[in-house]
Amino acid sequence: MPTLALLSSAIAVLTALGALAVLALRFGATKTPISEASLADQIDALLPQTQCGQCGHPGCRPYAEAIAQGEPFNRCPPGREHTVAALAELLHEKILPLDIGELKPKAVAYIREAECIGCTKCIQACPVDAILGAAKLMHTVIAAECTGCDLCVEPCPVDCIDMLPLPSAQQVITLDQATHYKARFSAHNLRLQRDAIEHEQRRQARRAAAKTKAAEVETAAPSKQEQIQAAIARAKAKKMAATKPAGSQQ
Ligand code: SF4
Ligand code: SF4
Ligand code: SF4
Repeated sequence: MPTLALLSSAIAVLTALGALAVLALRFGATKTPISEASLADQIDALLPQTQCGQCGHPGCRPYAEAIAQGEPFNRCPPGREHTVAALAELLHEKILPLDIGELKPKAVAYIREAECIGCTKCIQACPVDAILGAAKLMHTVIAAECTGCDLCVEPCPVDCIDMLPLPSAQQVITLDQATHYKARFSAHNLRLQRDAIEHEQRRQARRAAAKTKAAEVETAAPSKQEQIQAAIARAKAKKMAATKPAGSQQ
């Protein structure tokens, strides 16, 4: 048993050393020493910025951070081979074959408007605000802003969103497009933050108004003591009226 324990400790140490070696190689491979954060920035700048999540991370930035920490850099379907090649060059590593399962063509979302029930679920799912519409009204996709991320399809309760494949000339996401997608994603996040702040401000204003109204009602209403005094006075007047002799003038 002690031999087994020693063996498992040795394996744990070797595993940790292996992970450290990958990190050291990845950081050391770049020409100048850079921090993990700035390496993640450089990696992020090479990713397609659709935020589709197909790499297994909730967006491009988290995948960039994972790559900076040693995760394989060949798991981004929208980036295709050219992103793997760019990352291999940045990291001074060998180009790896794509590890992505089925490769879907780049597509653009299209809403079959006659079937749309205006539930807004697709708007909430779109990371780049490429869908226009309002509650209970028909929605439509701004095709030029759609990254093809596919994230609006699953939430649609009536399944009225199609992903239409783009021509082969438009299959590659260029760095300019990626920069544009990232700017739209940042604007989307700012809008969400602004909406959350405004929502909270409206909630606080409603609470303050309700408090003020309650205070006004309390001020206007007679106090308990005043109500008791009034009730005693009424009772006394009633009693006096009842004890007055019939025909008395006073
Ligand atoms: S575009 Fe690539 S890196 Fe970004 S979320 Fe999708 S799969 Fe991940
Ligand atoms: S419209 Fe749909 S597919 Fe297009 S960017 Fe928005 S969520 Fe993605
Ligand atoms: S999720 Fe579907 S039904 Fe709901 S607004 Fe979007 S397209 Fe219309």
